[in-house]
Amino acid sequence: MGALQTEIERRGERIFDLVDRHPESLFSKAGFYQRMMALSMRDEHFKVQLFRFVDVLASLHRGTDIAQHLDEYFADMRNGYAPLIRTGVRAAKIVPWVSGQLLRWNVSGMARQFIAGRNPKDVMKMLRKRRSQGIGFTVDLLGEAVVSEQEANEYASRCLELLEHLGRETRGWTDPLGKNTELFPVVNLSVKISALYSQMNPADPADAIIHLAPKLRPILRRARDLGAFVNFDMESYAHKNATLELFRTLFTETEFRDWPHVGIVIQAYLRDAENDLLDLLDWGRARGTRFAVRLVKGAYWDFEKIKSRQNGWACPVFLQKPESDLNFELITRILLEHESIVTSAFGSHNVRSIAHAQALAEQLGIDRSRFEFQLLYGMAGPVKRALVEMGYRVREYCPVGELLPGMSYLVRRLLENTSNEGFLRAKFSDNVSEDELLRDPAELVAQSATGTRHLEVSGDGASLDTPPGDTYENAPLVNFVYEQNQDRMREALAHVRTQLGQKYPLVINGEKVWTEKTIASINPSSPEDVVGHVAEAGIPEAERAVKAARDAFEKWSRTSFETRCRLLERAADIMHRRRFELSALEVFEVGKAWAEADGDIREAMDFCQFYAHEMRLIGRPRLTQHVLGEESYQHYWPRGVAMIIAPWNFPMAILCGMTTAALVTGNTVIMKPAEQSAVIGAMLMEIFEEAGVPPGVLNYLPGKGSVMGAHLVDHKDVDLIAFTGSREVGLRIWESAGKTREGQRELKRVICEMGGKNAVIIDSDADLDEAIVDIVYSAFGYQGQKCSACSRLIILEEIYPRAMDRLMNAAASLRVGNPEEPGITVGPVIDGAAHKRILEYIDIGKKESRLAFQRGDVPEKGFFIPPTIFANVSPKTRIACEEIFGPVLSVMKARDLDEAFEIANSTEFALTAGFFSRSPANIERAKAEIVAGNVYVNRSCTGAVVGRHPFGGFKMSGGGTKAGGADYLLQFVVPRVVTENITRHGFAPETTPLYRDEFLGPR
Ligand SMILES: Cc1cc2nc3c(=O)[nH]c(=O)nc-3n(C[C@H](O)[C@H](O)[C@H](O)COP(=O)(O)OP(=O)(O)OC[C@H]3O[C@@H](n4cnc5c(N)ncnc54)[C@H](O)[C@@H]3O)c2cc1C
Repeated sequence: MGALQTEIERRGERIFDLVDRHPESLFSKAGFYQRMMALSMRDEHFKVQLFRFVDVLASLHRGTDIAQHLDEYFADMRNGYAPLIRTGVRAAKIVPWVSGQLLRWNVSGMARQFIAGRNPKDVMKMLRKRRSQGIGFTVDLLGEAVVSEQEANEYASRCLELLEHLGRETRGWTDPLGKNTELFPVVNLSVKISALYSQMNPADPADAIIHLAPKLRPILRRARDLGAFVNFDMESYAHKNATLELFRTLFTETEFRDWPHVGIVIQAYLRDAENDLLDLLDWGRARGTRFAVRLVKGAYWDFEKIKSRQNGWACPVFLQKPESDLNFELITRILLEHESIVTSAFGSHNVRSIAHAQALAEQLGIDRSRFEFQLLYGMAGPVKRALVEMGYRVREYCPVGELLPGMSYLVRRLLENTSNEGFLRAKFSDNVSEDELLRDPAELVAQSATGTRHLEVSGDGASLDTPPGDTYENAPLVNFVYEQNQDRMREALAHVRTQLGQKYPLVINGEKVWTEKTIASINPSSPEDVVGHVAEAGIPEAERAVKAARDAFEKWSRTSFETRCRLLERAADIMHRRRFELSALEVFEVGKAWAEADGDIREAMDFCQFYAHEMRLIGRPRLTQHVLGEESYQHYWPRGVAMIIAPWNFPMAILCGMTTAALVTGNTVIMKPAEQSAVIGAMLMEIFEEAGVPPGVLNYLPGKGSVMGAHLVDHKDVDLIAFTGSREVGLRIWESAGKTREGQRELKRVICEMGGKNAVIIDSDADLDEAIVDIVYSAFGYQGQKCSACSRLIILEEIYPRAMDRLMNAAASLRVGNPEEPGITVGPVIDGAAHKRILEYIDIGKKESRLAFQRGDVPEKGFFIPPTIFANVSPKTRIACEEIFGPVLSVMKARDLDEAFEIANSTEFALTAGFFSRSPANIERAKAEIVAGNVYVNRSCTGAVVGRHPFGGFKMSGGGTKAGGADYLLQFVVPRVVTENITRHGFAPETTPLYRDEFLGPR
């Protein structure tokens, strides 16, 4: 054993010894809290229900509501406490007011355990007490998540007030150690950066800095005047780079360059942590003034894991707890070795991590008064006391804020305290031995087979690690948090800009066909810029294309499905290679923001991969039933020539999805993109040509829907029409295709996906922090031009004023502008006609209801429409019933949930819907009663992912097909069953094969 390990153990044992001298449970408050925590650690289901209940409690004001939620969360518990819980719930229902208050009081008590005071005045009592115990403080302001600039400005004012108050009240306070005091001001403020700017976007750290710096400077100036210390807390990974850059930018400014009392957090659970720290140290040396780092493991471990898994990203955090512990120690060493430039604060409750820092500092000859330990208020009290007794500098992190809005903080602490992996639980609840607790994490990492394995990461930050379980894995989204991806997107935009204005021919039977007439596709942000000129097909070209497709059908339909699947997969690979270029083109051609454009390309890649995957599942003739003496095999034949008519709003994904479904099932295709996005259509053709699609199998035919499109819909040689677009055109196609023309072989199949008038309901107990962000995104993301967009918002009366207030402020804060800029949420609408039509609807809305909010600052050039909100909208009005397809939201008030569902279901459409609630019973009702093809609970109602959220509506929203779903391909084929009697004179083989590939041979 090395000398360092021996010293760590010696110190660790000393800390444990001191801790044991003042025995105190992990849960220092006895009674209710202790019982709840003990039960949570025994019963995972109870824990989930309890934490969810705590989370919703803040929004419940009536005793009856509290009793109701209590019942919903706990009545069906199946643990040893079930009878007790049921009795409690029954009692709560009999006297709801009393029990409601009692519960709030008890849960407030739990919150009080972790929140040092409700306001600056309130917190002083606690700070004085700690001072008498030799413990310093850093204060942090709690509150709701900031969804608007108004809320961000309020947070900034509260920070200033808090500083003033602390400065005044602590006058004359001295440093507890009385040594190296110049490094550790008494007043210490911890700032949550995302609370100062509501529009932080990982793709655009520069914008974040532009907005954050002016808000921070007055706080920093005042702190400096008061001799205080300011620390930038670290939040989720998405904000990390911007926070680091902000820190460096501000403290390089002349005004703050020589100020040493500034610090930032490094999260050891991040794989980036070491590099980030080394960069900071370089910066610090160049700056020439000390700064501080608080080293922690990190508070968002679960969140980062979930988020990265959902998006297919490399997980930024270590996956094994000892890896985080080991990294903490590695970074401790770097910090202490650079003591001349950086002041360290070790933020941990873990005795091993603490003892390691102590032992290493001693080994390096660093006096214990030159660094400090920081611990959270309400946690590990005995450890704090032990450290003070050992003569170390201890600072407590003290959150200040109202108890109930601080619930998300409480829930995070509860999770931490009950985590299976956490040190505190291991020591104070599970009574793990001291030897075990003091073990070297390096040993544990080495022991674990996967411990040292680093996840494979591709160049764009995507994870190459396949999560087990699922057979289909989506392509990852581009993670714009990485500078390298931001640079690639900027380069792609610059490159595509040089390509604008080119001419694109039709492609018929593998030949490029030029026509006299062309379609000019323009940039909606800058209408004088032509993105490209595309040849326009007329009737003669349509006829040529049908003939080519018809001629190619015979061979293509007999091509093995495996060959067809591989074609799709090669197309996906090409899209992957050209991903940034294709996204950039979407920014120019259809005005999509970066992430939206990337999402569209990702979806197109997913369609290629997913339909190939699905085709392999249905491709082989399969035995229908095992029965002696007979065999029956079901299999599928393609329908024939497919006409694909796509919209411009998901210009690559929808065009590609419908096209690939037709191709992979063996149909030949005439592909008609929307006129507004014909250049992206040309790109898709190019991609398939490169992938090796045979001549005639795929034909690219942009042109006027009303002329060439209508001609093909009626054509006797077209067997299938896959359409996505407006209801008006969809119904026309449906009707027209229903007529049988002379010489027609098949009953035409129409796959028709149309619009929506999608409603989102906010229940009275909803979490507005999340609901407002998701609704604003659903309503105004891509300018409301998604068929899934939220265009009707129904708010329960009780929560209406607060929700409306936050909603309007959030809409007022959105970034509106040219989406070439990163981080834009609202860009231009697609063209002049759409612009005119939406403005007309806004005029109608002004007559029909009350204009509650409209942005006044949209760019003049380009087809920009200000985000607009109408209030008190009656469900029967035009703006409540008709699809507007723009950034216009109609808000309605509902008395109760019955009325809310009635309004939501009162349209002719049934595409998407959303429901925000924390009542399990109401959530179950919504799942059962909302009439829509895709119902989303507690999340945005846009952004369906292929395979995960098969997408499509019914009623006037479409034919009930689900793009990206398991049964989608069945629309493109005719099913066939071949049955053979295999009995001869009473004799039949015992077994029959499951598949018979002979049916796939020549017909
Ligand atoms: C004063 C103070 C300030 C803080 N400020 C911040 C801040 O600004 N930003 C921030 O993000 N955090 C911050 N934290 C950290 C966070 O809130 C937790 O308290 C801290 O991570 C717990 O670590 P520990 O060493 O006390 O406990 P331990 O029990 O030793 O470690 C628990 C931690 O290990 C990590 N972990 C858990 N499971 C795994 C796993 N399977 N694989 C890998 N790692 C895992 C997680 O980070 C978890 O929090 C702060 C903590 C303190 C004490």
